Amino acid sequence: MTDIRTVGVIGAGQMGAGIAQVAAQAGYNVILSDIDLARAEKGKAGIAKLLSRAVEKEKIAQADADAALARITPVGEVAPLAAAQLVIEAATEREEIKRAIFANVGKILAPDAILATNTSSIPITRLAQAAPDAGRFLGVHFFNPVPVMVLVEVIRGLATTPETVAAVEGFVAKIGKTTVHAFDAPGFVVNRILLPMLNEAVFVLGEGVGSVTDIDQGCKLGLNHPMGPLTLLDFVGLDTALEILNVFLSTTGDPKYRPAPLLVKYVEAGWYGRKTGRGFYDYSGAEPVPTR
Ligand code: NAD
Repeated sequence: MTDIRTVGVIGAGQMGAGIAQVAAQAGYNVILSDIDLARAEKGKAGIAKLLSRAVEKEKIAQADADAALARITPVGEVAPLAAAQLVIEAATEREEIKRAIFANVGKILAPDAILATNTSSIPITRLAQAAPDAGRFLGVHFFNPVPVMVLVEVIRGLATTPETVAAVEGFVAKIGKTTVHAFDAPGFVVNRILLPMLNEAVFVLGEGVGSVTDIDQGCKLGLNHPMGPLTLLDFVGLDTALEILNVFLSTTGDPKYRPAPLLVKYVEAGWYGRKTGRGFYDYSGAEPVPTR
């Protein structure tokens, strides 16, 4: 089985930087790449900030933070990823970008190295067609923010070998996270269950069955969820949620994924949630205020 010592991460945005951070903290050497060196260095600088905050809060020792940071090498090209036994792609969620990356990586990837994608919505089996070896290709779906969230979904494409899954499961355990397995289907396990629930909350609001507060309080206190579905939608971004529901609808043809009309209206209004200052709550004041 592939012995993973060096991990390559492609894309130094919020997810890629998070993956690089947790891998480095677990003792892996990490090569963090982006379109250019400046972006990769920016990703590393963000990690440095998070690590020094963790030191201030006495969650980790200064020496451990320094050692983790020293294990991360930012690069602006794919060639150095030849040294990695596992390469995780966490670049922008666009199929043509990911396909182009895999074609480039394929030229330099070590023969027994594993290539993984952190995609949230693109089918793994389809992406595998652009990978150097579909057997050593799979999905590893991290959750945001990566240093905090414990779950990783490991997704098998049709051709992914059991050895590939086992090697990645070992990596996930070593970085202190927990694997759940999923076969390649829209939304995998967690988003497949989550999105219909969030969508239903908007139907309930739109039909006047309950107010924003009734719905969020109801789910918090009645289901023991840490936050209500409308609060969560404001975090996720209503535009993103709508996009995901439309992918589910178009790939399955199942009407149960039709977006709630009020969700569509809010997106049309530009009320995307926290990122635009208004969604189901108004964020212009010190505290979020429910809008319905
Ligand atoms: P982001 O926009 O923060 O980062 C994407 C990074 O990819 C950017 O730094 C960009 O410069 C880089 N990039 C673009 N093209 C590239 C290329 N050709 N080569 C190298 N780097 C390139 O996005 P993100 O939120 O980190 O999402 C990254 C991936 O993770 C997406 O596939 C997304 O669906 C997935 N994901 C996101 C979340 C989330 O909550 N944000 C959760 C799980 C999975």
